[in-house]
Amino acid sequence: MSEESEIWDAIVIGGGPAGSTTARYIAEGGKRVLVLDGRDSIGSPLQCGELVPTNDEMRRLCPNVPDIDDLLQTPEEAISRRTTEMHIVPPSGRPLRYPFEGMMLNRVFHDEWLVDLASSKGAEYLTGARVESVNGETVTLRDGRNFHGKIIVGAGGHNDPLRRARWSESSLKIPIKFVLMEGEFGDAVELHFGSMAPGGYAWVFPKERGANIGLGIQNKFSKGRSLNSLAEGFISNFEGDITFRGAGSLPMSGSIKQFVKGNHLLVGDSAGMVLPSNGAGITIAMVGGRIAGQTVVSHLDEGTSLHQYEKEWKRQMGSVMRNSKLSFKIGSWIMRLPDWVLNLAFNPVTKPFVWRFVTCRKPFFIF
Ligand SMILES: Cc1cc2nc3c(=O)[nH]c(=O)nc-3n(C[C@H](O)[C@H](O)[C@H](O)COP(=O)(O)OP(=O)(O)OC[C@H]3O[C@@H](n4cnc5c(N)ncnc54)[C@H](O)[C@@H]3O)c2cc1C
Repeated sequence: MSEESEIWDAIVIGGGPAGSTTARYIAEGGKRVLVLDGRDSIGSPLQCGELVPTNDEMRRLCPNVPDIDDLLQTPEEAISRRTTEMHIVPPSGRPLRYPFEGMMLNRVFHDEWLVDLASSKGAEYLTGARVESVNGETVTLRDGRNFHGKIIVGAGGHNDPLRRARWSESSLKIPIKFVLMEGEFGDAVELHFGSMAPGGYAWVFPKERGANIGLGIQNKFSKGRSLNSLAEGFISNFEGDITFRGAGSLPMSGSIKQFVKGNHLLVGDSAGMVLPSNGAGITIAMVGGRIAGQTVVSHLDEGTSLHQYEKEWKRQMGSVMRNSKLSFKIGSWIMRLPDWVLNLAFNPVTKPFVWRFVTCRKPFFIF
């Protein structure tokens, strides 16, 4: 049977962290799954700050997510550098310092490795396959080819074609510019807040050699200043040769209300699975991908409702996502204050509260 005439158990649109993880668990459950991705080489070009928490840090951040070591098996070759501190930096440049176990990835290699992992379980991939539309069980590519699946999963990122066609809920998207710069940037990951990144933040994440430096904003707070000029302004604070320039868009409204419509599912960025208070999306997309994949398998084997995926997501991630959304809302308001107020607001007394905001705990201990 050809790929086109086969009725796949599931078709996954997009082979990023969400799609490849979903496919991995569907294949592990013994089902036939095809991943369609518009890129020729999944993961390229780089669109990322490349920071993820270690597995221990993930257990602290998302305590209801089980079996983290099975889910996140990051190979050493995908890790550029391990970091031990996070600095939250107000406009004054005087940071609040926190212990934080992070991993700076070689993101391109990381995503390729996720493809290899899913393929090793039996998932099949078709690259250079841009999806144009989805109609019931039929997925149509831009070149006119049709593929058929009992379940269709939209894991195409913030501009996913299934989300565009069937979901009307809109999400706030933060535009981002970033560079890779050569040089020595220490051992701490830095998040910078203030008027240099209105409504968003800037980052300096050190790699084995050099750093990933970027900035994202909310346009409505930027008072006419363009992302380009703000990003160039921030990046010009650092000296080193720029070896790569990238851009992207990050959904910052948190997870959407409904992930399932009939036999259609969304996962990862397409479902808003990014923690808005810190921009973490890679590991969170993989948490969603595992739940989606496992639910698809039990739906096909035992008739379990696909809505079990939403229930399980809420059980594992509901409170973390709720806290993160609240922190982002309060944070967006605070970040509109003048820089001199922010400099006063980031101080040793507020230090624990700031950390609760960033790490998605209840901001004020009680609510
Ligand atoms: C600039 C930037 C910096 C970031 N930094 C970090 C960070 O430091 N740490 C972190 O955890 N997260 C970060 N994120 C967020 C993180 O990258 C995403 O949350 C994560 O990649 C989501 O995974 P995904 O699989 O849902 O989507 P994606 O990784 O976007 O993958 C989507 C895939 O779908 C494919 N696709 C899209 N449309 C179609 C179509 N029509 N047909 C076929 N295929 C299609 C794409 O080619 C792509 O391979 C950052 C995001 C951006 C933009």
